[in-house]
Amino acid sequence: MIPASSRFVVVGAGMHGLSTAYHLAVELRQRGQGSGADVIVLEKSTPGAGATGIACGVVRNNYFQPAMSELMQACVEVWESDPEAYHYNPVGYIALGPQVQESDLESVFERHQRIGYDSELILGEAEVDAHMKGLFPDWRAKGVTVCLHEHQGGFAFNMEAVAGLRDKCLSEGVAIHTHTEVTGFELAADDTVTAVQTDQGRIEVGDQVVIAPGPWAQKFWAMLGLPAKIDIHTPSGDVVRDQPMWTYWNLQEGEITVDPLMFATADGSAPPVIHIDTDAPLHTDEGKLLTDELWGIYFKRDRHGVQGGASPLTVDGDVELDPYPSTTNVDDEFPDMWCAALSHSMSRFEGCRGLYKQARSGGVGSFTADNFPVFDYLKPNLYAILDSNHGYKMIGVGREVSRILLGDSAPLLTPFRFERFATGDLHPVSHSPYPWS
Ligand SMILES: Cc1cc2nc3c(=O)[nH]c(=O)nc-3n(C[C@H](O)[C@H](O)[C@H](O)COP(=O)(O)OP(=O)(O)OC[C@H]3O[C@@H](n4cnc5c(N)ncnc54)[C@H](O)[C@@H]3O)c2cc1C
Repeated sequence: MIPASSRFVVVGAGMHGLSTAYHLAVELRQRGQGSGADVIVLEKSTPGAGATGIACGVVRNNYFQPAMSELMQACVEVWESDPEAYHYNPVGYIALGPQVQESDLESVFERHQRIGYDSELILGEAEVDAHMKGLFPDWRAKGVTVCLHEHQGGFAFNMEAVAGLRDKCLSEGVAIHTHTEVTGFELAADDTVTAVQTDQGRIEVGDQVVIAPGPWAQKFWAMLGLPAKIDIHTPSGDVVRDQPMWTYWNLQEGEITVDPLMFATADGSAPPVIHIDTDAPLHTDEGKLLTDELWGIYFKRDRHGVQGGASPLTVDGDVELDPYPSTTNVDDEFPDMWCAALSHSMSRFEGCRGLYKQARSGGVGSFTADNFPVFDYLKPNLYAILDSNHGYKMIGVGREVSRILLGDSAPLLTPFRFERFATGDLHPVSHSPYPWS
């Protein structure tokens, strides 16, 4: 049974909704301003039913954008605060790239040093090769001239982390109402949200609402009467008119079923998550050329083998999100390409194409007009966490948001205000082919 009213209403039980509800409950208790009983979470399905429950779970700080990097450092702090509850594996993260990415990764590394994030930069093809062979003696990737090795970061198991956050919410007295779909908002004359409408009834809002709808962002955007197209003011003063505020990308991911322990470092340790981009020609194990243009994959050790993905595909037009992760999955070339790329990287993966499995991984993400998150008030008392699909790793955003809800400032979130599209305070763009780097 949903309550007739609640002081704080959080919509969505994914990474951001659960993290916000938990951190808000803690802040209320610690400040003597209330408790978790003042917070409810509304979830149309069950916790983790959205993008959080399908995420590869990679936690990294390879961000060219200063604001993303600083925010990520705060997020890694939260992951590291309770690795057991969050099922966080602090194995580190390695980004490898060709010459064109050297300057980007150098900038990222310099910022890591400034903000105290533990990473190491290796430059030069022979040096990178030696670093990687030290970890994986069968390393054989070509065309890689830069390596950023993050000694922090790693990955977390997606649904296990959700369970950890859910339990933290419950232990603070937060009520999570599952199978409760938000269908609309009632607004006062000053645009304040007075009630949340759901398919189980209406809930009066005592104080504030937080929406964290993941890929359903576009639906909530329309529900709030916000424009489907916007003008984007660039830092140089140009205006790009009528750009779609939201687009969908299909994240292609898969796995090979192998003994997970076959993917270990030379000393038997758990391997870091690896992301490689290179322009070396990519062939199948049988010698067929797949591409001689820039390609990239990421991969990590998983419970049942090795899991990862490649560049996402843009999706034209609208997407049916229910049931999530939607019907779109990988294109026909993905399994050949991803397995060939694994084999290109390490000889232990030679012949792995036959072990490829289209597991429950991959899915659709919702991206903003500049592919970076919008964290902002969209109504006087409605705060939106719309992460542009960056955000499994962003477990700390909820902590920042909880402070904003209680009247503090959260400078880490300031660069993500919606008004950046009107003021031209956009984030710099890197040479990476991915919309999330
Ligand atoms: C295939 C894939 C792999 C990814 N891998 C990574 C990764 O490795 N690292 C990383 O950092 N990020 C990754 N991401 C991105 C990351 O998963 C998302 O950015 C993040 O999980 C979004 O969290 P969220 O809480 O905003 O949304 P979600 O987890 O989607 O949660 C939103 C919740 O809202 C609920 N909901 C929706 N509409 C309503 C409604 N009307 N009423 C009530 N409830 C509603 C949904 O059921 C859902 O549970 C990946 C994404 C995908 C798709």
